[in-house]
Amino acid sequence: MPDNKSVIQIGMIGFGNVGQGVYRLLEKNRSLIESKVGAQMRIKRIMVRDLTKAREVTVPEGMLTTNFDDILNDPEIDIVLELMGGYEPTRSYLLAAMKKEKHIVTANKAVLSMHWDEIIQTARQHKVDIYFEAAVCGGIPVVQAINDGLAANNIMSIYGIVNGTTNFILQKMTEEKKSYKEALQMAQKKGLAEADPTLDINGMDAAHKLAILSSLAFSKRVKVEDIYVEGIDRITVQDIEFAKEEFGMVVKLFAIAEVEGDELEVRVHPTLIPQDHLLAKVDGEYNGVLVTGDFVGTTMYYGLGAGNKPTASAVMSDLIYVGRSVHDNVAGEISNCWFLNDNPQIKRIKKMGDIKSRYFLKFSVLDQAGVLSAISRILGEHRISIASVIQKEQKKGDKVPVVIVTYEAKEEDVQEALKKINGLPFVQEETLLIRMDRGE
Ligand code: NAP
Repeated sequence: MPDNKSVIQIGMIGFGNVGQGVYRLLEKNRSLIESKVGAQMRIKRIMVRDLTKAREVTVPEGMLTTNFDDILNDPEIDIVLELMGGYEPTRSYLLAAMKKEKHIVTANKAVLSMHWDEIIQTARQHKVDIYFEAAVCGGIPVVQAINDGLAANNIMSIYGIVNGTTNFILQKMTEEKKSYKEALQMAQKKGLAEADPTLDINGMDAAHKLAILSSLAFSKRVKVEDIYVEGIDRITVQDIEFAKEEFGMVVKLFAIAEVEGDELEVRVHPTLIPQDHLLAKVDGEYNGVLVTGDFVGTTMYYGLGAGNKPTASAVMSDLIYVGRSVHDNVAGEISNCWFLNDNPQIKRIKKMGDIKSRYFLKFSVLDQAGVLSAISRILGEHRISIASVIQKEQKKGDKVPVVIVTYEAKEEDVQEALKKINGLPFVQEETLLIRMDRGE
């Protein structure tokens, strides 16, 4: 058995928001962290794109580099910490580092969810650790909870608010009646949303996180393309008000994974939930995740889902774990990902058309006789039962919103019915559909 390592050396790729947060955290809590690892933790090299860029954190001269080979070919570097983001060259850097038997810590949900099999297989082949707590829900240790804490359970469902930007926008629309555009600008001003917030708004960021969480939870490889994804950009303040005032419900962007028989539902979309739902109080940039297992019951995880401090906290916990394993000469000996063994109980991913839900449907129609009966007839023909109808009075001649809430119906039937209804001459805009929590 080789001697225990007294210094664990880290090569970092990326020194932006999160990278500088990790550096600061290590400086601030160094003695605590090193006492937990049992060895010194040393950041040896940091790769960036631009050496001349002004940064809040100053590092010793010569530490920054723009050349990945300075990390890859340094035999003293034990752990590569990837905080650069994106798909490429990140994927290539990760694979190359693992082939050189360097352990990996990453916060990158995009590259993991897209190249999962290749990355995990390479880690196994080369017997290296790969840890990624910060890739899902920033500072909340939900990956470890699912992977380890709940490992003995058949996980039945995951319901999560996993994107802080959209949650912040929806809250501003709900509480301050800001328009979607105004709320988005506020999120950008607060540094929550990127200059290009597309991946947050269109639900893809949440889908990346759901792909990782559900792959771990269900021991079944879930790809991003398996997930039905819908963003929040069609929701208006008026819809939110309607839902709140008339039905006591709030809108959240939900990431849902749920077992139904031998199928798994995986979807991301705006969802109406009752105001007393556990996740209804998850506001602003906070994230919340409910995970239900067959023995443990329902568990809840809550906290800041982004920002350099919470994310650095999650990254550092991975570094402590891997650092300790390197120190004890057991790094790479125990794989932390076992979901490549496909779960025999889950035969397939459920088609979106087959899911069942209650629906909030907002029709924009001309105020004229026969409109309601025509809509109701088409819904009835598609096996959709109406639970309630609300029409607010408007000036004569204007288009009026009519909201119908349905009982549980099949998605395919609802989509077929809406296609027909949207083609009716008195329908002025494409009908808005928001799925409602099943409330079980
Ligand atoms: P960021 O502020 O944009 O920083 C990215 C860093 O990577 C910068 O230092 C940049 O160099 C460097 N970089 C980018 N492309 C590069 C290239 N081709 N070669 C070399 N260096 C390159 O990003 P971040 O917010 O810290 O996010 C980092 C990762 O953490 C991402 O995967 C993100 O999804 C994940 N994450 C972030 C948060 C959060 O709250 N921000 C939360 C959870 C997870 P320069 O500085 O020279 O430009």
